[in-house]
This record gives sequence, structure tokens and C-alpha cells, in this order.
Amino acid sequence: MPKMARRVLISGGAGFVPSHLCDRFLADGWQVLAVDNFCTGRRANIAHLLGNHHFELLEQDVSAPFSVAGPLDAVLHFASPASPVDYMRLPIETLQVGSLGTMNLLEIAREKQARFLMASTSEIYDDPLEHPQRESYLGNVSSIGPRSVYDEAKRFAEAAVMGWRNARGVDTRIIRIFNTYGPRMKSGDGRVVSNFIVQALRGEKLTVYGDGLQTRSFCYVSDLVDGIVRVLEHGDHMPYNLGNPREFTMLELVQEIAKQVGNVQIQHLPLPQDDPTRRKPDITRATHDLGWTPKVQLQEGLVAMIADLRQRLATGDA
Ligand code: NAD
Ligand code: UDP
Repeated sequence: MPKMARRVLISGGAGFVPSHLCDRFLADGWQVLAVDNFCTGRRANIAHLLGNHHFELLEQDVSAPFSVAGPLDAVLHFASPASPVDYMRLPIETLQVGSLGTMNLLEIAREKQARFLMASTSEIYDDPLEHPQRESYLGNVSSIGPRSVYDEAKRFAEAAVMGWRNARGVDTRIIRIFNTYGPRMKSGDGRVVSNFIVQALRGEKLTVYGDGLQTRSFCYVSDLVDGIVRVLEHGDHMPYNLGNPREFTMLELVQEIAKQVGNVQIQHLPLPQDDPTRRKPDITRATHDLGWTPKVQLQEGLVAMIADLRQRLATGDA
């Protein structure tokens, strides 16, 4: 008898990172059920999959109760506004999807006896006092600041995952994703890499918030997807940092983009409240346990992302 293909539910499947996951799981021979309400996702991200009979799309808010017909082997919870601009525009929805959405999907995983993986974030550490950040660091988080709707929703979601594991026996994984970039990021989602590239391609001044000396570590999306698959298949239940440890200031990012797009000008705008000053993952755990290291350097990743945004801006599909 032929072996049944494994089936995965990917919440937020039409989003930037999760649409790449849909591609990867389909390429690996899985059946994929993407569940999305398109509050921040783009239909174009999954348009190429709609004719694929191994792919299904369920248009559904995962914060509302829902059920899924048929078996599932894995549930990957990626639904959530992710860019600061999006989650500040959708604060209640962000709180709901981190809490109600996570619990709904954990119950579906329990019912189907599926493995559950939750997309957490480096925002768990917020404005870190430990550098680089290890998974054991407990964070420096404001419960009432402008980022708190996202940070606390993700912290609650991690607690829910551990609760469902301990009390209800769900087989769980948690990943903490650090800034990831690549093709399919929305041109207007406000995150720094897409903002700077779009501004550079349009000949506008690049908007550097504050003095531009704050740092981030940028991971290319294919490296992240590889790490996610490794955690799902071979990881344990404790959190894994996934990100590229190479740290850049925002001014260095401007320089990297200028090398490819040509001369750029910058304008300094005020630093948003509670903007973390430094961020860099310690990925020893993922490297040691899973053999994972990011391979794509920023210059190389920017080539692909600039080409993607250039083409989308030209066709009005940004
Ligand atoms: P994205 O906004 O492109 O994707 C999120 C998707 O979730 C969208 O398609 C959106 O429509 C969908 N969604 C949101 N709320 C929903 C709901 N209630 N029901 C159904 N669908 C819903 O963002 P992204 O950058 O691809 O991020 C995906 C996940 O990864 C998020 O959970 C985010 O917190 C996490 N993450 C991303 C990064 C990064 O750098 N991209 C960093 C840390 C964590
Ligand atoms: N940033 C910037 N200009 C922009 C957008 C963002 O200087 O047009 C800065 C922002 O202040 C932050 C960093 O870039 O210090 C990363 O911001 P992003 O929104 O991409 O993600 P965050 O890591 O803050 O969640």
C-alpha cells in the first residue's frame, strides 16, 4: 500500500515567512492546509499554489473556534501580525491571535495527535540587557508599552504551549525568530529592510529612526525555513533561537543597500518609543543540537529581495 503523505496545517499560510514554509513542505511531499484571514497576508504569496492538489486554503480567523476535517501530522502556528506597524494598527487582533488563536490550534493539535510548533519571536527578550540573547534569558519587557500587545501575546502563547504540553500531552516545539527578510515581504509593512529597499528603488530618502546605531541581525528566509524544519523534525520542546548572528547597525544596512541600488540619501526621524537598541541571537542550541547555521549573507539575500521588490513595484503588485 502506498504511504500516505503527511499533512500539515500552517496558520498564517499567506504571510511572508509561512508562504515560504508552504512551498518547502509541498516540495518535501507533504499535504499543506494553509489557514489565513488575510489581515496582513497577501493573496499573491500563495497564488502559485492554488492549482496544486496537495495544497488547500481555508479562509478563517484562527482566533475564532473552528475545526479541521481529516488527519493532521503537524500544526505550525504562524498567524499573527508581525511588523510593528501592523501590530500597532491591529492591537486587539494581535492579542487575540496570540492567546485565543494559540489555544484553538493547540486543541486541534491535541485532537489530531499532531506535533505543534509555535512561531515565537526575539521580542520575547524586548530591549535586552543580556547580549547576545540566549534562550535562557528571561527578557526585559514592558507590559504596557506600544510593543506590549505583540510581546505579551507571544509570551502568553509560549506559556500556553508549555501548558498544553504539560497538562494535555501535546508534542510541542517553540522557535524564537529574529528579524527575517526576503522575497514576498510586503512593501508597506514598515519593517526596516523592505522600507529601505522600497525607498531606495523609488529614489526617496531612507528613513533612519534615531541615530541609526541600533542593531539588528538579519536572517534570510530560506535559512529560517531550513531551521524550522530541523526544529520540527529533530528538536525538543524547549525554545530555539533562529536568526543570523551577524549584527548590523541600521546605518550599515543603508550602506549595504546603497552598494546595490546606487547612491541613496537618508533622513533621520524620531526613534519610536521602546525601540530595542541591540539584538543578536545566540544560536548555539540550534547549531549544536540540530546542525543548523544560516548560510546566506546579507549582501546575497539583498540581491534576491531587491530583484523581487523591483519587479513587484514595476507591476503594481507590491
Ligand atoms: P506576515 O504578516 O506576513 O504573516 C502573518 C500571516 O498571518 C498573514 O498572512 C496574516 O493574514 C495571518 N494572520 C494574522 N492573524 C490571523 C488570524 N487571526 N487568523 C488567520 N490568519 C491570521 O508576517 P511574517 O513576517 O511572515 O510573520 C509570520 C510569523 O512569524 C508571525 O507569527 C510572526 O510573529 C513570526 N515572526 C516573524 C519574524 C520576521 O522577522 N518576519 C520575526 C519574529 C517572529
Ligand atoms: N527602522 C528604521 N527605519 C525604518 C523602519 C525601521 O530605522 O524605516 C529601525 C527601527 O527603529 C528598528 C529597526 O529598524 O530599530 C528594525 O525595525 P523593524 O520594524 O524592521 O523590526 P523590529 O526589530 O523593531 O521589530
